[in-house]
Amino acid sequence: MSQAALKQDTQDRIISTSPGNGYAVLGEVDVSSPAEIKEKVALARKAQQSWEDMGLEKRMACLRELIPLFEKNKGEFVKRTSEEMGMPHGLSTNLVDGAIEQLTWNLENATKYLATETLHEDDAEITEMTYEPRGVMACIVAWNFPLPNFVWSASQGLLAGNTIVMKYSEEVPLFCKFLETIIAQTSIPKGVVNFIYGSGKTGDALLDEKLDFVSFTGSSQTGGHIYKRAAESFTPVALELGGSSPGIVFEDCEITDELVEAIFWQRFLNSGQFCDGLKRLIVHKSHHDELVKKLVDFAKARKVGNPLNTETELGPLVAERQVLKMEEQIKDAIKKGAKIVCGGQKPTGLSGAYYEPTIITNVTRDMRVWSEEVFGPALAVVTFETYEEAIELGNDTPYGLSGFIYTNSKETEKKALRDIQAGSLTTLGAHYYRPQNPFGGYKASGIGRQGGKIGFHETCQIKVTSRKK
Ligand code: NAD
Repeated sequence: MSQAALKQDTQDRIISTSPGNGYAVLGEVDVSSPAEIKEKVALARKAQQSWEDMGLEKRMACLRELIPLFEKNKGEFVKRTSEEMGMPHGLSTNLVDGAIEQLTWNLENATKYLATETLHEDDAEITEMTYEPRGVMACIVAWNFPLPNFVWSASQGLLAGNTIVMKYSEEVPLFCKFLETIIAQTSIPKGVVNFIYGSGKTGDALLDEKLDFVSFTGSSQTGGHIYKRAAESFTPVALELGGSSPGIVFEDCEITDELVEAIFWQRFLNSGQFCDGLKRLIVHKSHHDELVKKLVDFAKARKVGNPLNTETELGPLVAERQVLKMEEQIKDAIKKGAKIVCGGQKPTGLSGAYYEPTIITNVTRDMRVWSEEVFGPALAVVTFETYEEAIELGNDTPYGLSGFIYTNSKETEKKALRDIQAGSLTTLGAHYYRPQNPFGGYKASGIGRQGGKIGFHETCQIKVTSRKK
């Protein structure tokens, strides 16, 4: 592996490389020192009261300035996402559009959901509930949705009157630097939005500071660590963590092209690097051979290549370390008797963190591809015979982020939507990516929600006041 194969955090610099272009060095960013982290938290603390006192209307006006800036710089956001993290150009474009849509919805709905509510009123007294900002928020995020991560993790809290110190993943430091320059072009006052740079060590140092809320997006392993650290000071958290979502194909489900494409993209979009991607396919025994064959044919026809090329359907993974981890998981499955029916190797002629879309059958519960999150282009397939078995397999995971139910029976659909333990479930042709939908998980997939009405309230203290009239 070359020196540049991993995004290196060399104590004081992060060297950013391009996973789709042979790990070519894209640039370097200074890692924030402990003194700088302290200073950013102090700036956020100092700015918080005046940001809160400014009132919601003025805060909304400041954040609204981001929308034309995001639109104007869309091409640059897309290019930087594709170059630095390897997301195919078309998907990067969709995600920038999605971030703008979410921010617009947040702006349109902040007044409604942050308004004081009257809980009781009679001739003598009135009881009200107000949503107060918590104070200074830490936003620590992953790399897989660069612009949406800012909108999801930070914008609702900012509208509520919190100030933030944000740390993006060490995989996308240049993207973050660019976002920082865009935010600096708005009237958002100095100290309200602060960025720090570095790896987990920098995130840990941020947690040494006094914070009022931690919004974390990343793996369940890191999320568990953050939860423990926050508990030391009773700091509230919202944790958006990993997933190993089931997709269940019931006996009465017809194996149509629409189904095959839906399953394929729910697993392989962004080269399998979606927290809520369909990671375990649980298929009725009668459909296994036909469905697997059609998925393999579809997989083999996809165009894997340079993410900056608009025709590319599947790009690389974000970094060599992700490929290595997935290869270990696949090797473990093969050793325990799994069969690779397509993929299972790096494509020839491409230099970077590329891996062919891989479908794995004969999967058993002792395999890592079943029990762990696989964050790359590999789909584990198992069969079932009864409804109960399907649900048991679906829930046989530490995670509970999402799930996909495929059946032609409304009765089975209703039961499965009730029985699968996950924060978001969907059926063929429907989708839960809407700005009004709160997103988050059961079990090790997290605590709390982002987006929708609930996303605002997570970032607030709830105060009830009862007073005589
Ligand atoms: P990660 O947990 O390795 O890192 C996430 C962030 O935490 C990064 O900024 C990282 O630098 C920081 N970090 C790492 N160690 C830390 C520590 N000890 N203290 C403080 N901060 C620390 O995850 P990743 O590889 O960047 O992202 C992939 C994971 O994120 C997957 O598990 C994926 O499912 C999950 N994810 C979840 C959601 C969601 O909304 N549920 C969204 C995107 C990604």
